[in-house]
Amino acid sequence: RRSRAETFLARPAVTKAGTAVRVQVNIADPSDVDGIDVSTCDGVGLMRTEFLFGKTLPDEETQYRAYRKVLEWAGDKPVTIRTVDAGGDKPVPGFTVEEGNPFLGLRGIRLSLARPEVFRVQIRALLRAAVHGNLKVMFPMVAVWDEYQRAAALFAEEQAAFAVRGVAQIMPPLGIMVEVPSVAIAPEVFSEVAFFSIGSNDLTQYVMAAARDNASVAHLNSIRNPAVLRLIASVAAFGRAQEIPVSLCGDAGGDPAAIPALIEAGLRELSVVPAQLAMAKAAIADVSI
Ligand code: PEP
Ligand code: MG
Repeated sequence: RRSRAETFLARPAVTKAGTAVRVQVNIADPSDVDGIDVSTCDGVGLMRTEFLFGKTLPDEETQYRAYRKVLEWAGDKPVTIRTVDAGGDKPVPGFTVEEGNPFLGLRGIRLSLARPEVFRVQIRALLRAAVHGNLKVMFPMVAVWDEYQRAAALFAEEQAAFAVRGVAQIMPPLGIMVEVPSVAIAPEVFSEVAFFSIGSNDLTQYVMAAARDNASVAHLNSIRNPAVLRLIASVAAFGRAQEIPVSLCGDAGGDPAAIPALIEAGLRELSVVPAQLAMAKAAIADVSI
């Protein structure tokens, strides 16, 4: 007998009132997709790439193969790959630096821009992999427009170099994570990006000044705090007004207790860990919006 949640897995997610909600999956290792029936989700909303940066920094071919595998699995469905988000809770030996306050330090896009020789290898792998599916690329921990522009410029430079050599490649749409409060408060600064994806794990910890990995302040670390929800609602409203897609890929997206508030805040696209896919769809079906 199938559980109630499993009966929802096979169908597109809709609320009780018939509002469609796209539900994608979060993955890390490319083998994560092996056990997932692609028809049960709307693509990959977040592929974390830090895992690739385990012991040694991976070469272009290794990365290209990893990205290509996921793109081929997804077929026409979108696959959003995030450029390396090292630092903070995700240190990478040999890449991240020792810092007194790593959550506020050289992490995410800041580190990639500080180490362009490493970043360019990932960019080349992504440009080549884009030929094999519906790739979107997003940058983590963006705080100011200049970071997006510099990262996009590196993509353009690598694409031009490939074009000269006749290497098959496609420029993917480039978007950003919304996880630093500066972006959530003033999204209009970023109105040229292709899409937004709300990283509620980091957004919540920075809004509440409560570390995501510290159990003693976990009671403060709530996405349902009105300040956090208001920011999410305003980003969703901005996206709607400007026709910029807005999704959410933090852990709250798969939490049945948070889902009603997220849909109420205006989100219509969530990305959840595969194990929560069925439960998230069942929770969406209970929402009366
Ligand atoms: C987030 O911050 O919500 C997020 C999705 O990214 P990560 O958990 O990898 O920092
Ligand atoms: Mg994050």
